[in-house]
Amino acid sequence: MNLQELLHKDELTRDEIIYLLHLTDKEDLQQLYARADEVRAQYCGDEVHLRGIIEISNFCEQNCVYCGLRQDNNSLPRYRMTPEEVIETARIITNLGIFTIVLQSGEDNHFDTDIISYIIYQIRQQSNAAITLSLGERTFDEYRAWKIAGADRYLLKHETANANLYESYHLKQKLSERVDHLKFLKSIGYQIGSGNLIGLPMQTSEDLADDILLCKELDLDMAAFGPFIPSPNTPYQHKLSGEAELTLKVTAIARLVLKKVHIPATTALDTIDPIGRERGLTAGANIVMPDLTPFPYREQYQIYPGKRGSQDDPLESTARLQKRIEALGRKISYKRGDSLKLDLQQPL
Ligand code: SF4
Repeated sequence: MNLQELLHKDELTRDEIIYLLHLTDKEDLQQLYARADEVRAQYCGDEVHLRGIIEISNFCEQNCVYCGLRQDNNSLPRYRMTPEEVIETARIITNLGIFTIVLQSGEDNHFDTDIISYIIYQIRQQSNAAITLSLGERTFDEYRAWKIAGADRYLLKHETANANLYESYHLKQKLSERVDHLKFLKSIGYQIGSGNLIGLPMQTSEDLADDILLCKELDLDMAAFGPFIPSPNTPYQHKLSGEAELTLKVTAIARLVLKKVHIPATTALDTIDPIGRERGLTAGANIVMPDLTPFPYREQYQIYPGKRGSQDDPLESTARLQKRIEALGRKISYKRGDSLKLDLQQPL
C-alpha cells in the first residue's frame, strides 16, 4: 500500500499509526498534513472556534513530575482569583464574541463545590456561553453538582496511555482512575476533552499510538496534543523538550483516526515553534484556546516556562491571534462550537 492509500483508509491499525509516526521525509510529511487538513475540512468545516481560558488558580495538590504548578514547587508565587474577578473576566470574554469559557486550575480544593457552582451560575446568567471546566480530578459528586449548575464540558487530559509511565509521572494517581473519571463525566452528559503530552521522557511511538487509540475509545469531543516543555524546579527540569514536528504528526494522525472531534492548535506548540498555531491549524486542528487570564495572574500560571503571550496584554494577544488565523484564510467562529457529535449546535 502506498502512502496515499494509507492516508485515505477509513480506519488505521495501531501498526499503521506507528508507521505514520515514523515518517521523516519532508514530502511524506506534507502529504500527511495535507490529508489531515482535508479530513478536518470535511468533518469540521473551515471555521476556527475560540475557547477563552481563565486560569482561576495556580494552587495544586498534585505533584506531576513534569508540571511547574506541582505542589512541591515552592518557588512559584501562588494565586487564586476571586469569584468576582472570574465572573468579570468571563463577561469580557463573551463581549469579545468568544462563546466558550474555560475555567482552568490545578487541583485546588479551595474552589469547592459551592464556589465553582456559584461561578458557573453567574456566568450562565450573563450569557449563553459554553462553560468548560478544567479543574483536574475531582469527586463524582462535584462533577454532578457542576453539571446541574450549568457546566457543559470537562477537560481532563490522560497525559499518557501507558499505565506504567502514568504512575511514574503521577505519583499518587492511576491511569485507570483517570479513564474512569472521563467515562463518568461523559455518562452524566458532559462533552469531554482529553489528550496527551508529546515527548515525555521514556515515551515511545507505541505509547503515542496508544494515546490516539485511547482518545478514540473514549469517544472524545475534544482531543489536545501538546509538546512536553521542561519546567524549572521540577524533577524533569533538565529533560529535553518535545518536538514540534512530532506534535504535528500526532495531531495530523489523530485527525485521520478521530475525524469528528475538536482538536486545538495548542499554545505549547506555539511556544516551541514561532508559527506553531499556523502549522497546527493546517495539519488537522480546528480550534485555538487564547489565554484571557488577567494580569498579574497570567504570568504566574507556569505549567511550563515562556508560555507564548503570557507577558502580553490578553486582549491584544487575542487580537493578534485572530489576525493570524484570518491570514490563513480561515474564518473565526462566533458560536459556542459545541461537540461535532451533538445535534444541539446552539445558535446565539
Ligand atoms: S498537571 Fe495538573 S494536576 Fe498535575 S501538577 Fe500540574 S496542575 Fe497539578
